[in-house]
Amino acid sequence: MKILVGEHRDERIEALPPELLERVRARGSWDDYMKIHGGPLASEAKRREAEVLAELGLLDEALRRGRAIVASYPPRLIGHSSGKGGYLNPAAYLAAKTGYPLISFDAHFPWGTWELHLKLGFPLLAIYSGAEGPHPGRLAKRSDRIVAVPLPPGASDQSLEAAISLAEGLGPVVLEVGLDFYYREPSGHFFATDRTYYRLGALVGRGGLAVLDCVSKASAEAAAALLAGAEGGPEPPDRPFEETRAVQSEAAAAIKKAKERARRIFKV
Ligand SMILES: [Zn+2]
Repeated sequence: MKILVGEHRDERIEALPPELLERVRARGSWDDYMKIHGGPLASEAKRREAEVLAELGLLDEALRRGRAIVASYPPRLIGHSSGKGGYLNPAAYLAAKTGYPLISFDAHFPWGTWELHLKLGFPLLAIYSGAEGPHPGRLAKRSDRIVAVPLPPGASDQSLEAAISLAEGLGPVVLEVGLDFYYREPSGHFFATDRTYYRLGALVGRGGLAVLDCVSKASAEAAAALLAGAEGGPEPPDRPFEETRAVQSEAAAAIKKAKERARRIFKV
């Protein structure tokens, strides 16, 4: 398996080793787009027709393959923050088309995906940095289909893998993967190693679809670990960064609450 990318050249995608990438030349159609995004976005998006249709074609190719990882990072306004104000939210598009739950694993809370979750109703499990993201109670007031897992900065494999385990009983899923939980990410405050990304990849291996976001040169190894997990390749060594006791207990409390809620609303 390789990471599927569109035709456009983006410096962040180009930073990944070329042997991990497969270019897809395809065109999607506006019909499916309209059902999912529609509304005021459409006229804006149509001004960027070439970009948006190429991205739709890439996503349709991922759907056709059934198990796939795509990197979607065109110049602007396409990505997990793309909701009302963007052109295309790839993960939300895939969740709406498949009916799978959407798992967002990204230090940034996916505000655009959240807007589309409210509009389209696909189940949403969001794992994000609690330092910047919303309180789960605030989200629960507006939706009974979201499970939110805010994690404290400093979390490493132990807590991140425990959070991912919430997704493991859900059947096939769509993943929005931010590589900003990776320890090599200079802007990040988290310490996920290859283990965490390997475990996420295993969700793809079971018939899931993943969209990479926040990708950079620093996270190339995490992307490779994700692919290895999807293919059932050799497991990376277990060498987590030690978490402080405060981080451990804050993460454990957030995961416990999320687990209770997931049991109630996802029936797992
Ligand atoms: Zn991010």
